Amino acid sequence: MKKLRLVLGDQLNHEHSWFDEKNPDILYVMAEMRQETDYVKHHIQKVVAFFQSMRNFSEYLKENGHEVRYCKISDKDNPNELTALLSNLISKEKIECFEYQLPDEYRLDVQLKDFCESLKIDFKAFDSEHFYTSRTELSEFFEGKKMLLMENFYRMMRKKHHVLMQGSQPEGNLWNFDKDNRLKYKGQVPIPVAIGFQQNINEILSEIEKANVATFGKIDSKNFNWPTSRKACLAQLTYFCENLLKHFGDFEDAMHTDEKFLFHSRLSFAMNSKMLSPKEVVDTVVDFYYENTEEISISQVEGFVRQILGWREYVRGIYWKEMPNYAQMNALENHHKLPDFYWTGKTKMNCMQKAITQSLEEAYAHHIQRLMIIGNFSLLMQMHPDEVDAWYLGVYIDAIEWVEMPNTRGMSQYADGGILATKPYVSSGSYINKMSNYCGSCHYNVKDKLGEKACPFNSLYWHFLDEKKDYFANSQRMAMMMSLLKKMKPAELAATKEKAISLMENRENL
Ligand code: FAD
Ligand code: SF4
Repeated sequence: MKKLRLVLGDQLNHEHSWFDEKNPDILYVMAEMRQETDYVKHHIQKVVAFFQSMRNFSEYLKENGHEVRYCKISDKDNPNELTALLSNLISKEKIECFEYQLPDEYRLDVQLKDFCESLKIDFKAFDSEHFYTSRTELSEFFEGKKMLLMENFYRMMRKKHHVLMQGSQPEGNLWNFDKDNRLKYKGQVPIPVAIGFQQNINEILSEIEKANVATFGKIDSKNFNWPTSRKACLAQLTYFCENLLKHFGDFEDAMHTDEKFLFHSRLSFAMNSKMLSPKEVVDTVVDFYYENTEEISISQVEGFVRQILGWREYVRGIYWKEMPNYAQMNALENHHKLPDFYWTGKTKMNCMQKAITQSLEEAYAHHIQRLMIIGNFSLLMQMHPDEVDAWYLGVYIDAIEWVEMPNTRGMSQYADGGILATKPYVSSGSYINKMSNYCGSCHYNVKDKLGEKACPFNSLYWHFLDEKKDYFANSQRMAMMMSLLKKMKPAELAATKEKAISLMENRENL
């Protein structure tokens, strides 16, 4: 029976059981499509990284004896739409059975289900064999519970998968070393030079340009530094273990004007494209820790494991539990548009200038920049979550909706009304000053609420709390913030609100 098997651009799983058998009657199809480049405007590095990784993966399959039909963005007969591509191949190649791996995006899941229903041949969906959990495991775990606490899910995952456990007890006798992960970076330890991945991306770049794919952000073809093959991804993992892991937890929440990556792993693209599995990343890191306990403390490793075994699986579960409604949520009824500087980085706010410019130059910002700088500012400015979502989905190398949306709409913008986060992640300038060196060289003064040069985060913070006080009236987690708001003198609050409103109105000029 002649089979057609679809491999999507984020399904580059070299270890998938599909590839155990070599069979000339199985045709694999992979395609660079306008459908995928155009559903949101992407960063140019993201498009290049996906296409380059897909091309490398198709070469790998061919070298290993599999039949592959690869459709480039520049191919004249590329229909650029998934169902047209599949229908053409099914009739041209006289395919008798169509098979695909479950996509991680709701949009593609619906498209493929609808397509299969229209088919007159057999079809079958397979697991992508990537995640620790199934789509529904989180929903089943939290069944009947009001609060979907990540910490509870994470502990279950640690026990179930025997990660960092000593019998039934957590390694180091604590489940969570979060409180140890809050050092400010002041150059205490040097940051090793990033590993380089030399690769020629000129051909892909010119094909993307010729196809008139609309993108944004910067790319330097001589310094394109994302791993786009399994070998390179494994090298990045080894590099992380040997060079960065020993300080990962300590500086997890730190931000610094001169250091874009600090001790972060930059493994998200490798995992989200599935070139690395989360299990092999966690196992490698944990094994490395056990071999080097004199040099590496448990708090560094636990901090890292929590992100992957905990947060990454957790947000995926929330996505499948809540979609498609999640994509429409706007619990705080925010409606403002993003200012232009989200696409230029041209703002006098040093923290925003650094975090946005870095995002545009590298297609990367680390977690705390995404959450407590750009996300914080977007929420304090009461931006529409659709706008914020689209920007995050476009700009980051690792942005795929299943992981981007719960993080942005949920954790960062509280648009889901607290399904994911127990309180909104908002702060005034003082938190940013505590965790970074941004404020020292800023046009604005972090200590001031009022006045020409007052840090915008300050008045916006109190205005946000005041605007949303009815919504959070019964929230225990917000009680302290709200009691401080209540203690503010009416005249001071009125002046602060007036300042915040004028900042919102003049947001293009901040
Ligand atoms: P490290 O700091 O080295 O962390 C290790 C790994 O843990 C990451 O590679 C990632 O796979 C995982 N991880 C860490 N935090 C999270 C999290 N909150 N959710 C899921 N996985 C996590 N991550 C994405 O992969 N894609 C996104 O589109 C994305 N959008 C985000 C949007 C916002 C507003 C926020 C606050 C976070 C977002 N994250 C996203 C999570 C996190 O910021 C990135 O995974 C991380 O910055 C990637 O860099 P790294 O590989 O160096 O991570
Ligand atoms: Fe950001 Fe305010 Fe600090 Fe400037 S002073 S860097 S705007 S927090």
